[in-house]
Amino acid sequence: MSKKITLEQKVLSRNDILAAELRKLFNEEQVAVMNMVSSPGSGKTSLLEKTLGSLSQNLSIGVIEGDIQTDNDAVRIAKTGVPVYQIQTGGACHLEAEMIRRALVNFDLKSTDLLIIENVGNLVCPSAFDLGEGLRVAVISTTEGDDKPLKYPAMFRSADVMVINKMDLLPYTDFDVQKVTRNAMSLNPEIQILKTSCRTGEGLNEWANFVKNFAHLIVSGV
Ligand code: MG
Ligand code: ZN
Repeated sequence: MSKKITLEQKVLSRNDILAAELRKLFNEEQVAVMNMVSSPGSGKTSLLEKTLGSLSQNLSIGVIEGDIQTDNDAVRIAKTGVPVYQIQTGGACHLEAEMIRRALVNFDLKSTDLLIIENVGNLVCPSAFDLGEGLRVAVISTTEGDDKPLKYPAMFRSADVMVINKMDLLPYTDFDVQKVTRNAMSLNPEIQILKTSCRTGEGLNEWANFVKNFAHLIVSGV
């Protein structure tokens, strides 16, 4: 076996150390942190747009948007009135703990209950980069393949919840909700499943309640 440590391993272990420091900071400041991951176009930003209004009635929220280019998503989130900071990675296809650390100067952690990180749309490397979050949410939409959990196992193994979005389009696709559920649970029996549609509003209350419960668990220190 080779003793050579690859550059990727070095980057990852440095990221893990920094993520552990962030997690400690978030615990001290009692900030619940959620990392949303998915393919491009699954509807992460739309899910936030639709529910930040009701979430921010009870919680003080900050959002970090990750994209390779543009601040389009931050502009959409800003319209909800929630403080948002856009990270433009300028090419990198994932967020790293160091990018989050630098972004934190834009937020008052003392008064923040919930920090939502919307990762770059990509089901591969975001799974390997811990951002110090307490909850990882994988969003999949019904316009994708229901075998995605099997194709990207690291992502669905590391996620706490899988949100099946665009449920309104289900009649027009071959996507099988039972199959995707089986596939995800075969990798991760603990994974929770939610179903949503940003167009019809299906499941949005359940999604918002799920996020609220997660935040209250952290903020109340239980
Ligand atoms: Mg987005
Ligand atoms: Zn990447």
